[in-house]
Amino acid sequence: MLQVDKQTPVMVTGATGYVAGWIVKRLLDEGLSVHAAVRDPQNKEKLKYLNQIAEKAPGKIKYFKADLLDQGSYAQAMAGCQVVFHTASPFILNVKDPQKELIDPALLGTRNVLEEVNRTASVKRVVLTSSCAAIYSDNADLERTPKGVFTEEVWNTTSSLTHQPYSYSKTLAEREAWKINEQQTRWDLVVINPSLVIGPGINPRATSESFKLIKQFGDGAMKPGVPHLGMGVIDVRDLAEAHFRAAFTPAAKGRYIISAHNTDYPALAAILVEKYGDRYPIPRRVLPKWLVWLVGPLVNKAMTRKMAALNVNRPFKADNGKGVRELGLQYRPMKESMNDFFQQMIDSGVLRQR
Ligand code: NAP
Repeated sequence: MLQVDKQTPVMVTGATGYVAGWIVKRLLDEGLSVHAAVRDPQNKEKLKYLNQIAEKAPGKIKYFKADLLDQGSYAQAMAGCQVVFHTASPFILNVKDPQKELIDPALLGTRNVLEEVNRTASVKRVVLTSSCAAIYSDNADLERTPKGVFTEEVWNTTSSLTHQPYSYSKTLAEREAWKINEQQTRWDLVVINPSLVIGPGINPRATSESFKLIKQFGDGAMKPGVPHLGMGVIDVRDLAEAHFRAAFTPAAKGRYIISAHNTDYPALAAILVEKYGDRYPIPRRVLPKWLVWLVGPLVNKAMTRKMAALNVNRPFKADNGKGVRELGLQYRPMKESMNDFFQQMIDSGVLRQR
């Protein structure tokens, strides 16, 4: 039975990331010893936020240098650990070379980390940060689901190197993780499939795509309006709790969709208009689909015509019941996540008043 054992360390890959920051905090607050695998342990600016939370927490943090593409580089960090949280994977939507920038680090990186798990006898459980992107590629996929809703049984079968390559990278990586896990019996795999993550970061200037997206609601980029595009959202703090429970709930098993709310762009904008609309150029109009189809690719390279056709004016609907039932998760209101996130961008100078 897996228990919170304060004597045995746990490891987090990509500890400097947005999602990982709150996982590390949750673990340190519990009094655990965290082995933080990072690309550059000399980068004081990046580590400063983790150091600040570690100073106030009962747990301890230790840094190890590792890279997803450097075979064997996770060995030192993993030695003696009982749980491995594998969060590291590039989350970028605008890429020139999807194979090199997304697929290789996601797929080969997952293989690299899990082969190390196979060599490390102390590891009992791996919690993998996958994504809802491994469940679906486009909102249009909803029509092909057995129950008209995305569930843990559904897999993304429509992404490719040329269409939604980030989603493709997450799908290939998660499939590889299950394949490696099924070849042995010593360690079990619990997979977290979050929707779009929002909420304040441990590092207020994190580089995650979540920051880029929500910043656009306040920097004028979306001032003309937003498409009616459905999506799920999850607060980064609730997501950290989900990872923690996935690690230490003995019966946790399989995939978990971690998504608090089925929503869309106009609903997210409406929350911000209420509190910040008089000071920031928050979008107030809904753009027609034909306009997004026509102009989208010119404004944003990641918004292809195919993406517009398969996503705009289509809802997103995911069933988050398994996580609620089996992990006892409770989700905060979307309004709190959006306002806390936006306020952090104002306070840190990422967003300026008009
Ligand atoms: P992030 O802040 O950009 O974090 C990505 C992490 O991966 C960073 O720590 C980065 O290290 C690390 N990384 C990238 N390439 C690496 C490499 N070659 N070797 C070692 N580490 C590498 O993005 P995030 O949003 O927190 O994403 C974390 C995880 O959550 C990813 O697996 C992502 O797919 C998943 N996810 C995110 C969302 C979301 O909306 N944010 C939704 C669903 C799933 P550096 O700090 O050194 O760059």
